[in-house]
Amino acid sequence: MIDDRSIEWPAEEFLRNNELVAQELVRYLETIRDRPVAVGAASSELVQPLNGDPPQDPEPFDAILRDTVAQILPNVAHWNHPRFHGFFSISGSYPSALAELFAAGLNLNAMLASSTPAALSLEALVLRWIADFVGYPREADGILVPGASLGTFYALAAARDAALPRVRDKGWATAGAGQARIYASSEAHSSVDKAAAALGLGRDNVVRLKADESYQLSPDALREAIEDDVRNSRLPLAVVATVGTTATGAVDPLEEIAEVCSAAGVWLHVDAAYGGLWRLLPEVRAITPSLAVADSLVVNPHKGLFVSLESSCLYCRNRGALETSFRAVPDYLSMSDDDSGWDPMNRSLQLGRTFGALKLWWVIRSYGLQRIAGQFRHALRTARWLERELDAHPSFRRPAASVFPLVTFQHVRDNRELVRRVNATGKAFVSHATLPDGHVTRVSIGNIRTTCGDAEELWSVLRAVAAALDATADAHEGLSPSVGDRGNRR
Ligand code: PLP
Repeated sequence: MIDDRSIEWPAEEFLRNNELVAQELVRYLETIRDRPVAVGAASSELVQPLNGDPPQDPEPFDAILRDTVAQILPNVAHWNHPRFHGFFSISGSYPSALAELFAAGLNLNAMLASSTPAALSLEALVLRWIADFVGYPREADGILVPGASLGTFYALAAARDAALPRVRDKGWATAGAGQARIYASSEAHSSVDKAAAALGLGRDNVVRLKADESYQLSPDALREAIEDDVRNSRLPLAVVATVGTTATGAVDPLEEIAEVCSAAGVWLHVDAAYGGLWRLLPEVRAITPSLAVADSLVVNPHKGLFVSLESSCLYCRNRGALETSFRAVPDYLSMSDDDSGWDPMNRSLQLGRTFGALKLWWVIRSYGLQRIAGQFRHALRTARWLERELDAHPSFRRPAASVFPLVTFQHVRDNRELVRRVNATGKAFVSHATLPDGHVTRVSIGNIRTTCGDAEELWSVLRAVAAALDATADAHEGLSPSVGDRGNRR
């Protein structure tokens, strides 16, 4: 007889352990302010690498959880911390965590409409919700992807195959495709370069146009670069414009860029990974360009919508274009004669994929759009308050302003040291960017738990560190009072 007892936990054990995990998570999130926001570089070097062999026999879950709490939590940056302002301030949320648990428990594979029709109709629904949210045609093809970097890669693949239909099957050389070019500002995200490399275009064929004094892509510079390439028998393939650049939250002038693209017959991809979601607010919509001009668009719920990583929406107005690039149906996956539905496996490189629509559905339904808008406004008001404080302080200056809650500023004497010392306090975490006129500090606000008290604490840390830097500089006569630490670009 075969012993067919499964190794799976009995249900009671799951319920008990689930309760332990929920309690631990609540303890973590409700006391998160007591923790240092991030481990400093020095202490991360001190962390012992985890080692050991896998156990031969079962270990009690209490011990596994205890080790996780003891060994992992003290040695990571707490991205969910309300004073984590580095990169982009993101936050998971309780409904998102529960949806992840439920989706993982179901473990259904959202790759084929014939096997998971309800999951895919839910994916289509949340994609329509987000399209409405940001103002993009809801009829566009869409797909949830793990991140905007991948979304941009897929969009540029679709652009390549729209312009050069033979490349997909024959490859660049046989298709005689020549030198194809992508244009973006010097402020666009590095995912554009990665996509160009992976698509075989070559990173050198990403034409990085120097952003103007507002860190935006200049439509005139773009037009000239395209004309120059055409004169030199190169093929202008796509433009990547950004709504919410990483360094300063700048917004490229989409309407003028779209005019240049349409005159030249070039695909316009818009990276609204950070900036797109804020357009839920009518007051932000009023001062940002319409995203509807984009041929393709990425927007990241995991950057601002209280949805845990990984969650990004890719849209493509040219229906069927993603399928043209990514359709490949091996015999074992041709499950149905009815191909009227959409199969995610034909819109991206992924085959097996998680049921990522569930967390979007649960988060949006749990809070409702009005409360989400209220939380967004709180972040915006907090950012504007911090800007006023910075403007009134002699040790700081702000070289850039964003319509989003991303505050960019410089300490007038030593900005690098400011970032290092602020992060070393453990009370707040900020990150940096390098602009043509120097190294800047970035404070991104948007965590679901950030309060006015948190912002005041950040401000008090910034002032204290600035005062110490000023005192040191004053004591060392001859130190230049201007920002002297220009660095390499991204
Ligand atoms: N685009 C912009 C403007 C970004 O700032 C980032 C990341 O911060 C990305 C794209 C990449 O996003 P993801 O991490 O989802 O790939």
